Amino acid sequence: KIKHKSDIEIAQEAKMQPITEIAANVGLTEDDLELYGKYKAKLSTEALNRLKEKQPGKIILVTAINPTPAGEGKSTVTVGLGDAFNRIGKKAMIAMREPSLGPTMGIKGGAAGGGYAQVLPMEDINLHFTGDLHAITTANNALAALIDNHLQQGNELRIDQRRIVWKRAVDLNDRALRKVIIGLGGPIQGVPREDGFDITVASEIMAVLCLATDMADLKKRLSRMVVAYNDKKEPVTAGDLGVEGALALILKDAIRPNIVQTIEHTPAMVHGGPFANIAHGCNSVIATTTATRLADYVVTEAGFGADLGAEKFLHIKSRSAGIRPEAVVIVATIRALKMHGGVPKNELGKENVAALTLGVANLKKHIETIKRFGLPPVVAINRFVTDSEEEVRALMDWCEKENVPAALTEVWEKGGEGGIELAHKVLEAIEKGENNFQPLYDLSDSIDEKVRTIVQKVYGGVDVEFSTKAKKQLEDFEKLGWSNLPVCMAKTQYSLSDNPALVGKPTGFIITVREFKPSIGAGFLVALTGEVMTMPGLPKKPAAMNMDVDENGHAVGLF
Ligand code: ADP
Repeated sequence: KIKHKSDIEIAQEAKMQPITEIAANVGLTEDDLELYGKYKAKLSTEALNRLKEKQPGKIILVTAINPTPAGEGKSTVTVGLGDAFNRIGKKAMIAMREPSLGPTMGIKGGAAGGGYAQVLPMEDINLHFTGDLHAITTANNALAALIDNHLQQGNELRIDQRRIVWKRAVDLNDRALRKVIIGLGGPIQGVPREDGFDITVASEIMAVLCLATDMADLKKRLSRMVVAYNDKKEPVTAGDLGVEGALALILKDAIRPNIVQTIEHTPAMVHGGPFANIAHGCNSVIATTTATRLADYVVTEAGFGADLGAEKFLHIKSRSAGIRPEAVVIVATIRALKMHGGVPKNELGKENVAALTLGVANLKKHIETIKRFGLPPVVAINRFVTDSEEEVRALMDWCEKENVPAALTEVWEKGGEGGIELAHKVLEAIEKGENNFQPLYDLSDSIDEKVRTIVQKVYGGVDVEFSTKAKKQLEDFEKLGWSNLPVCMAKTQYSLSDNPALVGKPTGFIITVREFKPSIGAGFLVALTGEVMTMPGLPKKPAAMNMDVDENGHAVGLF
């Protein structure tokens, strides 16, 4: 049995080029960059403003089937496809999200791609990178501190301390902080109240930063964020507290995109990282649109399956930024499809064409969804060395029968070389010009209609039910003038339904919305379904237990 190198071993053996050289390949000068060491940089505000005037290139969105514990490799394919485009002589860039330390220390390991399709320096990107997540955490907690100080100093805005909805944040999986009591110890220690922590990537500030188009827009969005309700149950915003300027100041560097490189020296923007199950799941609008001004093809990903990340890319990010993808790559693995066909994780090593044939129903649903949006799908079969020839052939045959372009993708093993066929298939799909992109709902539809559309057309469910609380909220939102906002579904990533156990293509299910969370700054209404948590916990054996650092400061065991 061959022992494959780990992601970190491959990453550390790779020879990086100075980021100034990488950036020069897409026309950026040293003046356009603010360097964070030799291999990482942020773009200058001047460069960002200048580039707005240029004609944009084409966007390719990478999404996937519903994830399983078997792994799909969306980031890996995103990176590999960018590399493949450059190999066939196309000017391409990658636009990805920045990893959160929560899942990195927890179950997932890194989020900078894998094998020979990674962005570098992967240990920095996976740890503190250029500090964006720290800045977002700080802005979030500065606002929390300012709210509590407002209570302490006389509460001029008459905030109802039982109706403060702004939570504190930390970029770790820390279940013990989900619900806390603060301000204990007497009058000098503040006003006692119930509070809680969300993981930073679930913070509205993360979503605001990712959807903002520039500093002025960032400030407007920060100002609109609802932090609490007053004694008349009217919303109180960050703007009412007069602190949007301070928050924007804390974010002045975090708002500018980071540029790094892949193992094959393709330039990559890695910027912003909201989760797709509890937030909108896409990297920043500024990074994506700037990349389109620097390259002819921009490969970008949206988190989890097409029911979450891609739906939100197409209904929230595209609409708000005025962009659209030209083609959508759906990543599938044979292992994950076998799990969707009922095979338990410990039996994935065994060939099982029958289970694969069953599980493919999950892929089929996502293909239909992308077509429903009027976009051309291309299936990327992310090959694992354990996949049998028989299984690969069965899946390729199925795609042919379904008349959907598909490519066997071996970027994890071979880098860009393993993605050339996929790149050609994507180009063909774009050149065919079958792009009739249109959102599935209109902003003017009622909120319950918008949710119902997503449930029926994207998830394949029968209907949606709203809890008494959610119904009451819908009435309030109507009065507050929020009903023309898009909906951001918070749902388990593992199933098309709101029950993580229902893999494959569940039918006949009803989705329950238990509560809405207005994210007025981000510009959407979060609909909470099932048991989705805004602060994850750590598993029994966290990935952190394998991590170490040697005497020279090199990371060990970071996946
Ligand atoms: P996603 O973006 O879908 O969460 P990633 O691209 O981050 O998935 O990949 C998750 C993990 O799976 C990474 O550690 C990566 O190295 C591994 N992986 C991805 N594709 C393959 C493959 N074809 N063979 C083996 N491991 C893979």
